[in-house]
Amino acid sequence: MAVQIPEQGSKQQIESAAIVLDYRDHGESDKIVTFFCQEFGRLTGIAKGAKRSKKRFVNKLEIFSSLRIQHTLPQNGRLAFIAEAELLDGFLTLRTDFSCYTAANVVREIVLLATKDLEGDEDLYPLLQWVLHNLNCCKDPSPILIFFLIRFFAIIGYTPNLTSCADCGYQLVQHEIFSFHVQSGGILCDRCNKEKRSSRIRLSCGTLRSLDMALRQPLNRLQRLQLTEQSRREALSFFHLYAKQLFQREIVSWQFLT
Ligand SMILES: [Zn+2]
Repeated sequence: MAVQIPEQGSKQQIESAAIVLDYRDHGESDKIVTFFCQEFGRLTGIAKGAKRSKKRFVNKLEIFSSLRIQHTLPQNGRLAFIAEAELLDGFLTLRTDFSCYTAANVVREIVLLATKDLEGDEDLYPLLQWVLHNLNCCKDPSPILIFFLIRFFAIIGYTPNLTSCADCGYQLVQHEIFSFHVQSGGILCDRCNKEKRSSRIRLSCGTLRSLDMALRQPLNRLQRLQLTEQSRREALSFFHLYAKQLFQREIVSWQFLT
C-alpha cells in the first residue's frame, strides 16, 4: 500500500515517551517507524531524513530504544510526522545477550500482533518498560518473559482461566495436574482431559498458582517472583500454544528462544 506522507509542520507537535517496535527504510533517506507511546498506544510515523541525519535521529531509531519523540498525530490516513527523538534508554545490555534479545523479540512480535495504531492502554506502556528494563539487566530471561505474557494477555482482555476446570468447574488443588485445552481456552482437570484427550500441555498446580500470583503482584515487585525449572517449561509451552491459538498464526520469533 502506498504510504501517504504528512505535510511537514502542518499539524501541532506533541511530545511523547515512546518505545521503538519496528522500522523500515522508505526511499533514499527516510524511515517509517512504529512506536508504542505512553499516551497514544501504537503509533506509526515517518522520520524524514532519518537515514542521513547525524543529529536528530542517529542511533536512536533502533528497535527497543526508549525515546522521547516530538511528533504530530496521523490524520486522514496519513502517517504521523516524527520531527525529533531524544534517547532515554537504549537497553544496550539486552542487545548483546542473545537469550535476552530473543525474549525481547517475542515481546515485540506479540505486541505488534495484538495492537493497532492509536489503540492504547494505560497499563501497556509501563509493562513494556518493565519487561525491557528487566530483560536488560537479568541473567535469566524466561521468568521475565513469562510474567510479561500473563500480564499482557490480561491487559488485552484475554486472561486465561487458570484457577478451575473449563468443563466441570473443578477448583485447583495442591498436587493435581491440569492440562491446557486449546478449544476451551482454559485448563481441564485430569478427568475431563481424559475424556477429550486433546491436550499435551500439562500444567502443574505450582505453575498455575505462580501465574495467578503474577497477575496480582504490583509491577514493581513482579520480578521478585520465583519459578521452578519445571514451571518455566510448562508455562512457556502453554503460552506458545495460547498465543498461536489467539492470533491464529505461528509466533515466528518463538523458535529462537533459548
Ligand atoms: Zn473438569
